[in-house]
Amino acid sequence: MPSPSEPLLRVENLSLGFRQGGRVVPVTDAVSFEIGAGEVFGLVGESGCGKTVTCLGLLRLLPAASAVVLSGRAWYHGRDLLQMSAEEMRAVRGAEISMIFQEPSAALNPLLPVRAQLRLPFRHHAWPGDPDARIRDLLARVGFADPDRVLRSYPHELSGGMLQRVMIAHALLLEPRLILADEPTTALDVTIQAQILDLLADLQRETGVGILLITHNLNLVAQYADRAAVMYAGRVVEQGPAGALLNDPRHPYARGLLDALPNLETARVPLPIPGSVPAPDKYPAGCRFHDRCPRVFEPCTRDPAWTHVEPGHGVACHLYESTESVGVRFNRAPTTGTP
Ligand code: SF4
Repeated sequence: MPSPSEPLLRVENLSLGFRQGGRVVPVTDAVSFEIGAGEVFGLVGESGCGKTVTCLGLLRLLPAASAVVLSGRAWYHGRDLLQMSAEEMRAVRGAEISMIFQEPSAALNPLLPVRAQLRLPFRHHAWPGDPDARIRDLLARVGFADPDRVLRSYPHELSGGMLQRVMIAHALLLEPRLILADEPTTALDVTIQAQILDLLADLQRETGVGILLITHNLNLVAQYADRAAVMYAGRVVEQGPAGALLNDPRHPYARGLLDALPNLETARVPLPIPGSVPAPDKYPAGCRFHDRCPRVFEPCTRDPAWTHVEPGHGVACHLYESTESVGVRFNRAPTTGTP
């Protein structure tokens, strides 16, 4: 067990890339964050910012033939996930760290009934009790009044919300300490989305499991996470308490994510961020957000340093740099293009 002061997962300077045409294209750059036991940590950003790649990289689920760990560590219980043997990793995956995928209909096998799919983890991991009792108990806990009917069903016979509940039950089967939830409600309508996230929050409080919540929605992070990091073009650009990120985002990209959301209280018209996230082989030099940033100025042609704006809250933006900046954090990834 980690000591009380030790995080459950500590990701340090994780840089991942993919082989492409005889070279390696860096996709994420020095991503760092920590998740405490029982904490909900949000990873926020538009599609293509590197959130899912980071998540899959931590569980070593990226294709081995093309994915490359360029640098970094991912400490879990004093062991580096990135250095574990395949056998050690199989023991951790599912039993200690599990994942909820974006599209439950794609993650579940359409040819097998739910029961067969929920029994699979018990073939690879020891479980002290009766697996069927555990499965039924969890299906009841995620809100199914008739677990046996669900167990007999094939995925196409269940709605999107029901499938995501099955996925949540699947992720909890072996009592993991950490769940990586990758956009767990993207495929669902707003009402079901709230039900699923409330359910996850209840289960988190009940079981003490830590959750890495990946989403593009800053509102969801503020509602469900304790702390969060905002990613843009493969880098963490702001990190701090979730409430501070919603109420007082410092990085212009975090501000843009917030302004792009409808606000029912103020009836403010959502303002989309102009442009789109560059592809990894088109990351610009300097601040990678500069060509979309409304506050761009001369220093932005250089990589910004990581600056603490308040305890536990940091940002990588030249607007906040001062003599208190903590080193130059970004200086490694080969980049293309010029600002
Ligand atoms: Fe905008 Fe410059 Fe800050 Fe980047 S460093 S977010 S371009 S102000």
